Amino acid sequence: MRHTTAFIFLLVLALVKPPVSAADEVALVVGGGKIFLHTPPVFVDGSVYAPLAALDAVGAKCETDSKHKRDGQKVKITSAGGKKFSCRARLVGDELMLPIRDIAPELGAVADWDEVSRILSLRARIESIAFDGSELRVTTSYPVTYADSWWNAKLILDLHGVQMPARQSDLPIENSTAIAIRTGSHDNGETGRIVLDLPKAVEHKVKSARKTSKIAVSISGLRPADLAGVIPEGRVADEKAPPVGQPPQAETKPPVIELPPVSVTDIGCRKHGRRAEVRVSMSGPAKYLTSMTRQPDRFVVDIANAVLAREFDDMPVGHELLQGIRVGQFAEKAVRIVMDLTRIAAPDVEWDEASGSLVISLRLPKNAGGSLADKIVVIDPGHGGKDPGAGGCDGQWQEKNSNLAIALCLQKALSDMGVCALMTRKTDVRLGSTKTEDLNSRAAFARRHSADLFVSIHGNSVSGPRSPSGIETYYHGREASSMALAYCVHSEVITVADLPDLKVKSDFRLYQTGLGILRRVVSCGIPAMLIELGFVKHPVDLAKLKDPNFQQEVAEAVVRGLRTYVEGNSSSLRQSGNPESPPSEPITDAESAVEPPAETHDAPKQTDKPATEPQKPTSTTGPHRPGEAYK
Ligand SMILES: [Zn+2]
Repeated sequence: MRHTTAFIFLLVLALVKPPVSAADEVALVVGGGKIFLHTPPVFVDGSVYAPLAALDAVGAKCETDSKHKRDGQKVKITSAGGKKFSCRARLVGDELMLPIRDIAPELGAVADWDEVSRILSLRARIESIAFDGSELRVTTSYPVTYADSWWNAKLILDLHGVQMPARQSDLPIENSTAIAIRTGSHDNGETGRIVLDLPKAVEHKVKSARKTSKIAVSISGLRPADLAGVIPEGRVADEKAPPVGQPPQAETKPPVIELPPVSVTDIGCRKHGRRAEVRVSMSGPAKYLTSMTRQPDRFVVDIANAVLAREFDDMPVGHELLQGIRVGQFAEKAVRIVMDLTRIAAPDVEWDEASGSLVISLRLPKNAGGSLADKIVVIDPGHGGKDPGAGGCDGQWQEKNSNLAIALCLQKALSDMGVCALMTRKTDVRLGSTKTEDLNSRAAFARRHSADLFVSIHGNSVSGPRSPSGIETYYHGREASSMALAYCVHSEVITVADLPDLKVKSDFRLYQTGLGILRRVVSCGIPAMLIELGFVKHPVDLAKLKDPNFQQEVAEAVVRGLRTYVEGNSSSLRQSGNPESPPSEPITDAESAVEPPAETHDAPKQTDKPATEPQKPTSTTGPHRPGEAYK
């Protein structure tokens, strides 16, 4: 197989060696999510090439002479498991790239190339599973993240980006007890699931780091009789696993282990001064999705695989941030909780194991309150100098150009309002000799100037032959204030950009540790966001990015978003009727909190800000899409 690949590779190389600029970009998925690489992986001559930085994602290290890069250069690699090997890199542009799919086995990864979606998935292998009655240990070929949960005396471990073999018998399982261990997969094979079928509910404690190749979970409270296999009648250890001895089938997939839905039993709200806390009692933990909408301002939590134990009436709250709560069975197995806000709030959502509830805490976002004019805003035009960012589809434009042009418009608009608006770069320069130095100095700049808010301006580019079009905005991880900031700015930009809305997203969707710049700035305690203002490889987006009118309009929209974040939008509430009672539309499938059919809601009409507040002609007067919402 490998010989064939190598032969075809040489044959293609001999016949046609296309210019590398014609290489087509692809996506690399590791750990269950697309990884963010500054130089995207490409598909050349039948192989997927990724920059050396991709090795990080699978815990591997490399050594090479990066000063004198040349095609065919030897790179020495040590896998996470300690295996040493070398590989010839290819020079693509000025980046050394490795044939990542070909070296996957050496890296301890299972590679899965999808020709249609142009996605290369790397998944870790399970090296061993061991259970001795007091500890469950799982070893993977490289560090992975995982989640532990508990359901009806079942301990469930979900391993992200881990390949489960089709047959459990292919796994090295060491189990000295009679307690059944089941394995399967989930999330279209991106998540490996291990279920320990315990005879009763017991305590479990995760002892390993959240990202590791050696997962350890301790179990306490099992008696010798439990371990010896006095399993209650009717409990079938492994009803879904194929029978042992079944001949291997190429097409066999690991069994999908689905869990019964959790039930939402109660919902309550407490006011803690300026903070409101919503508690959702559930029979067990469940996955959930959060989203925000602006105008009307709402925070929405969708709980997956959940059912309501009873009907819940709408709950008026009357808190300074939270008007009321509505709950509904959004889909057959999904519960939606809508929190109607008086202004955009910073939401923290956490599962509280002790009380068995999902705790949603709403507070005023960090550095919000008062007037935008009193704040220090750091504007960060991405890339610069030797780092051009993504290249435009016209073969000339470089992302760094529009980043700077829009940032300069933004600085002027903010300065005109009396805001202290500082730029990480004002000219076409790189802020360090390496990418890391560059990012560090941008974050250090924000910290040094005690920034209240940080806005990074970028242009987008993705893998694949056809570029999408649209605007997307990122915040770091689950940082609540940054999330609020991202929604405020994104919702304003989307009203003027006339480009598809690609929503607000956590940067964890891109990369396990998020985006370097956001991670650094947020760790300084500064709410931060990164907006991707169109795709440089899409002709429509690129034309806009080059257009001074677009640059100006977008900059003004960012100002409105920042202003909403800081000052709130009390004006839009005053006109929505009695502020004491929350809107009471029932939550149905058609409800618009997450994916709104645009026609269901009428756009709230904007009224002027109260006369006491200084009014800028650019503030919230633009047309707003009805019930605009984001995942
Ligand atoms: Zn960029």
